[in-house]
Amino acid sequence: MEKYKGENIIDFMKVFKDDESCKSYLAKLKWSEGFTCPKCGSKRGCLKSGHCYECYQCHHVESSTSGTLFHKVKFGLRKAFCIVYEMTASTKSLSSVQMGKRYGIRQATAWFFMQKVREAMKSSQKYPLKELIHVDEFVVGGQEEGKQGRSYDTKKSKAIIAVELSEKEKVKRVYIQAIEDYSAKSITPLFEQHISTEANILTDKWKGYLPLTKRYHIEQKASKGGKNFKTLHIVVHQLKSWLRTIPVAVDKKHIQKYFDEFCYRINRSQSKENIFHKTIERMVNAQPLFHFQIIQKIKV
Ligand SMILES: [Zn+2]
Repeated sequence: MEKYKGENIIDFMKVFKDDESCKSYLAKLKWSEGFTCPKCGSKRGCLKSGHCYECYQCHHVESSTSGTLFHKVKFGLRKAFCIVYEMTASTKSLSSVQMGKRYGIRQATAWFFMQKVREAMKSSQKYPLKELIHVDEFVVGGQEEGKQGRSYDTKKSKAIIAVELSEKEKVKRVYIQAIEDYSAKSITPLFEQHISTEANILTDKWKGYLPLTKRYHIEQKASKGGKNFKTLHIVVHQLKSWLRTIPVAVDKKHIQKYFDEFCYRINRSQSKENIFHKTIERMVNAQPLFHFQIIQKIKV
């Protein structure tokens, strides 16, 4: 299939001119390696009108959206594709309020769909950071704080961030995790899921990192009000200013999804041309997510 490339919105609107063209794109992706019937497992079937596949054996008719994160999108696939495009090809994306206005759908409808897109943006954990990594903790939400470092305000979401830097201290990749507290137990998953044991890691002098020094190359250095973690703090600042553009404060239980979206865009800023296609591909390969699951998803 021809993968959509580019960041030009006029071109994008021409390619995806109606719901049909989006359905066709999904069908090509979904059955790129042939058809397997989800009901009986048969591999024999044929493509019908409306971009559906009919199984020869049990006559089940499978749509291109079923079993994917586009399952039961009721406001039209073209609008759904546009929202994915806004969330990936742009640098900052929009809030669900703005997205709702732009595409003529309810804010809640936009929000639920955007949570599905964020689900597809979750890290695969297959490519751990392996070079020079700076790690630090920070808080978001609640009253805006004027100081760096660990805060114990319960209204705020606590988080830990790992930034991989190039030799020139440029950001290469970023991972952020919401944490319950600053204990070694809470900060360990970020290391296990996103950092290679071969990496050279710099943290501040927080004692929570000490148990990790057995397995990881960790150097501890005083933060000096953030001076020793300059690039990292620029990233945290970008994250916070993006979160502030969201009019309804982000609920603590959903904050991880916003971190995932933020990191997903940063980590693909060198391959912006392909980011839309890659996201659609992830959404087709993911399991559908229902509204009750989105509401229940409390990970923090
Ligand atoms: Zn079948």
